Amino acid sequence: MKMANFTLHHLLPCLLFFAAPLVAFAASTPDDFLQCLSLHSVNAFAISKLVYTPMNSSYSSVLDITIQNLRFLTPFAPKPIYIVTPLNVSHVQAAILCSRRYGLQMRTRSGGHDYEGLSYLSEVPFVILDMVNFRLISVDAEDKTAWVQSGATAGELYYRIAEKSKTLGFPAGLCPTVGVGGHFSGGGYGTLLRKYGLAADNVIDAQLVDAQGRLLDRESMGEDLFWAIRGGGGGSFGVVVSWKVKVVPVPSIVTVFTILRTLEQNATKLVHQWQLVANKLPNDLFIRLILQSNNSGPNGTRTMQASFNTLYLGGVDSLLEVTRSSFPELNVTRQDCTEMSWIESAVYFAGFPRGTPLEILLNRSSNTKTFFKNKSDYVRESIPESGLEGMWERFFEEDEGVAQMIWNPYGGKMAEIPESAIPFPHRAGVLYKIQHITAWTTGGNEVAPKHVSWIRSFYSYMAQYVSKSPREAYINYRDLDIGMNNVIGSTSYKQASVWGKKYFKKNFDRLVRVKTVVDPENFFRHEQSIPPFSS
Ligand SMILES: Cc1cc2nc3c(=O)[nH]c(=O)nc-3n(C[C@H](O)[C@H](O)[C@H](O)COP(=O)(O)OP(=O)(O)OC[C@H]3O[C@@H](n4cnc5c(N)ncnc54)[C@H](O)[C@@H]3O)c2cc1C
Repeated sequence: MKMANFTLHHLLPCLLFFAAPLVAFAASTPDDFLQCLSLHSVNAFAISKLVYTPMNSSYSSVLDITIQNLRFLTPFAPKPIYIVTPLNVSHVQAAILCSRRYGLQMRTRSGGHDYEGLSYLSEVPFVILDMVNFRLISVDAEDKTAWVQSGATAGELYYRIAEKSKTLGFPAGLCPTVGVGGHFSGGGYGTLLRKYGLAADNVIDAQLVDAQGRLLDRESMGEDLFWAIRGGGGGSFGVVVSWKVKVVPVPSIVTVFTILRTLEQNATKLVHQWQLVANKLPNDLFIRLILQSNNSGPNGTRTMQASFNTLYLGGVDSLLEVTRSSFPELNVTRQDCTEMSWIESAVYFAGFPRGTPLEILLNRSSNTKTFFKNKSDYVRESIPESGLEGMWERFFEEDEGVAQMIWNPYGGKMAEIPESAIPFPHRAGVLYKIQHITAWTTGGNEVAPKHVSWIRSFYSYMAQYVSKSPREAYINYRDLDIGMNNVIGSTSYKQASVWGKKYFKKNFDRLVRVKTVVDPENFFRHEQSIPPFSS
């Protein structure tokens, strides 16, 4: 996943607007804020050790460490007045109460993977509540459940589950460094989505601190709020402290393969065929497609390359039977396949070579950071070959290796879960989801306008082939191009429904109703947070 441009709405208003209030605030209240935190915290002595201001030498490293999108890792990005790194629930409660008291906006950060940086950027004076120290995971293998605190990563969760049992897993992201706080809040999918649905589909309880500073669990928050936090997007309803999840059975042996095909090797026809079969395969088979242009054509010429990146929940013999009968065109051979444990497959899908120690899943910095701008689409009718050829032409207009698409097959369990079960609505009828990516490592923010403009134009071309009214999008692939709230002043239902209906379809209205009850003053807000009716 990747993405780009420090858009004007992020940069210019910050430079013009942000500097003055920050000075004014800093001159009058920093001690007050810290005293307020101490007053409302258990273990108050520790508070000063948990709060970072620009005066601390480690402020920048604490701020920068989990920022994934290099577009936002720049001195020009707005910086928080405080970073609070709570160790216990009372610190979370105190941070909420004191931010309210001193008129500071709060941004909650767990893994820092938000594509638009909404967990650590704001155009008004703000505090980051960084959940990095909330990392406990306790797995009950007999009960097949686990409690996981929101600052833990998906990789840490997989690792701790596998420590208890090699035949248990969890259906969350392919990228092990995503934080479960934001990831589960927006749905969260990975290689097990056709078998078990999303991470959020498998959450059975949660602890959350609300805008009043109350610690709630499923019973005390009630089913409406519990519904909303499982897919309604992070940063709208409160601070999730921990999730209780169902862990799921996986076989002791799974099989993986990645088959590469270029245009000269019939990629267009194969990609077309994939659209017809991928969502109808047995639930145990997940074949995603990664499409990019590179120089793998004859004599190093530029071509499109399709990677059929696959997990099968079973051994190689039965995988070969399934692919021969359901997708013979791909011509999968035994040599293409590798058997391994499910936890080893998590390392494989994170892009590490065979033999990489499983402990890589515990490394929160294992992901290569890039400058990126991503977008998403849902496809409900297969795209004709002529449409695919139009995509390839556009890919050849972008620099080599910068643009990518990842197509994730739906069907299976995803089609069985009703659209209203949780706020995530993209279910029956979806053939696959597209993630559009432009990601680069050289040229920095100077080349961002060029790449961002390319992806926006590509997205316009795709409109004819993807879901319509609304053009659906995935909340965890945050994209401010599709609309946003006013960052300052009141938010409006009408304005928010432009982006809200794309992420949530009809569920958006229920999310707004829940928000109106639980946070009517709209304390938890950002550019794409759910607004209350009154604001
Ligand atoms: C490299 C990379 C790989 C990815 N791979 C996948 C993938 O395989 N599958 C997939 O579904 N998605 C994937 N994503 C997208 C990812 O799911 C989202 O970016 C997700 O929101 C990240 O959660 P986070 O905690 O890391 O992010 P953060 O930036 O910390 O938070 C994201 C949002 O949630 C809010 N939030 C964070 N913590 C809390 C909390 N404790 N309580 C309430 N709100 C909170 C934030 O304020 C922000 O609005 C990937 C992203 C990246 C950058």
